[in-house]
Amino acid sequence: MKLTKIAKYIIVFILILLSATNLHNPTFTRATEVPKVEITDLETSPIEPATLMSQLPSWARLVDIRTVNRNIRLDIRYATRNNFLKRKLYPIAKCALRASVAQRLSKVQTDLEKIGLGLKVYDCYRPFSVTKQMWEVLPDPNYVANPARGSRHNRGAAVDLTLVDRAGKELEMPTPFDDFTVKAHRNYSGGSARSRKNRQVLEDAMQKHGFIGITTEWWHFDAEDWQKFAILDISLGAIP
Ligand SMILES: [Zn+2]
Repeated sequence: MKLTKIAKYIIVFILILLSATNLHNPTFTRATEVPKVEITDLETSPIEPATLMSQLPSWARLVDIRTVNRNIRLDIRYATRNNFLKRKLYPIAKCALRASVAQRLSKVQTDLEKIGLGLKVYDCYRPFSVTKQMWEVLPDPNYVANPARGSRHNRGAAVDLTLVDRAGKELEMPTPFDDFTVKAHRNYSGGSARSRKNRQVLEDAMQKHGFIGITTEWWHFDAEDWQKFAILDISLGAIP
């Protein structure tokens, strides 16, 4: 009898230990966000010097989305402490994108306005040095793009965003931004029917203008031609 009791305690203890381990090892990653072409040597990686920007064709230059479409709302989380690192990483709240990508995002906004909706962006171009900083704080590919490979955000060719109504209120989605659980996966079939419908409305609107979603984050979209653009390290303040 006594032995059974001890065995029970041991089993309960093992179960607690296992559940604690699982909680601290989320398996959902941002790894799919990194370029397919692996850059292993930073010395030879295509980081464009800022001086080259003015020599780029106008469609490839970084522009502030507000100069393209002022109706797109901003909630640049890395310019605040309201993000998963609880740190302010951008000196200013700016959504910069390659001009051709910004033009296409503007078309998405125009389409959505016809059905009483709009876009709110959380993150756009991310300077490469910020990706390095994020990696220093949290060197875990489950959360942060490894700087050895960079992120499509570093190329000004990716955007994190959600839908808002006419009043600017966020529509219900399966999770908040930067939720690294299975609930954020694009094919997650749980949650409310309304959240799944809203996720689909966003995906359809983005796809129509050449943006491709990634499987692990409903809010992240790459421009389909992201490979045209090199990794950049220009500060947000330097973008007109
Ligand atoms: Zn993203």
